[in-house]
Amino acid sequence: MPSPVLSIEGLHVRYGAIDAVRSVSFSLGEGEIVALIGPNGAGKSSCANAIVGLVPSSGAIMLRGRAIAGMPTDRMIGLGLSLVPEGRRIFPRLTVLENLIAGGVSRTASERSQNKDSMLKLFPALSTRLQQQAGTLSGGEQQMLAIGRALMGSPSVLLLDEPSLGLAPQIIDEIFQLIVRLRDRGVAILLVEQNAERAMEISDRTLVMVGGTIRREAKSAELAQSKLAEKLYMGATL
Ligand code: ATP
Repeated sequence: MPSPVLSIEGLHVRYGAIDAVRSVSFSLGEGEIVALIGPNGAGKSSCANAIVGLVPSSGAIMLRGRAIAGMPTDRMIGLGLSLVPEGRRIFPRLTVLENLIAGGVSRTASERSQNKDSMLKLFPALSTRLQQQAGTLSGGEQQMLAIGRALMGSPSVLLLDEPSLGLAPQIIDEIFQLIVRLRDRGVAILLVEQNAERAMEISDRTLVMVGGTIRREAKSAELAQSKLAEKLYMGATL
């Protein structure tokens, strides 16, 4: 595995009496896509949200060897870690451009301008709609905007929570091709997905999460062939 840029050790998330994430450990290497798959309620989103401090957790979270647990989210963005949350969470009443600017507040004006130019090359569809209200974009365009907004912070580690949710297969293809392009530019990506088959196609490694724990970690190509992920989903014990 490439040298880890993000390491998670013993991550635990509890909501009242529910232990949603139970002592989860994994790492993400430079320029690697790691898929975090698992059925509904497995704890995937809780994991991603806990890493960026959106939900309280215990355990160690290291970004390039630096402890970041408990750090304010905007500082984490400044250090190169960004989350694209489940359900996009764009600002619907703001324009596309205003949404993008909001994603770049941790950067200087000149960095923002550079990031915007390179980001719009990735998403030509957005470049003609900069003045359009974001809430009027299609679902796929809103997902692109949510990713673009995160890219405005120049992340080296990107957490993507269910980017395919509610999108047509052709649009999912476009989003996933984009994720591969980002990986090829050196961004390390944690891809949280319920669409396991698609996630395994583009990822290097896969973590299968069931009931708050990582039940299996394997190279994606091997896991996809063995159909083991499917069995784990169905509740098999190993
Ligand atoms: P999905 O794909 O459906 O989003 P997931 O694998 O991302 O599922 P989580 O959303 O992390 O799973 O949920 C894990 C568990 O924690 C579930 O039992 C869920 O009901 C519970 N949970 C999630 N958020 C909260 C919350 N804010 N308060 C209480 N329980 C929660």
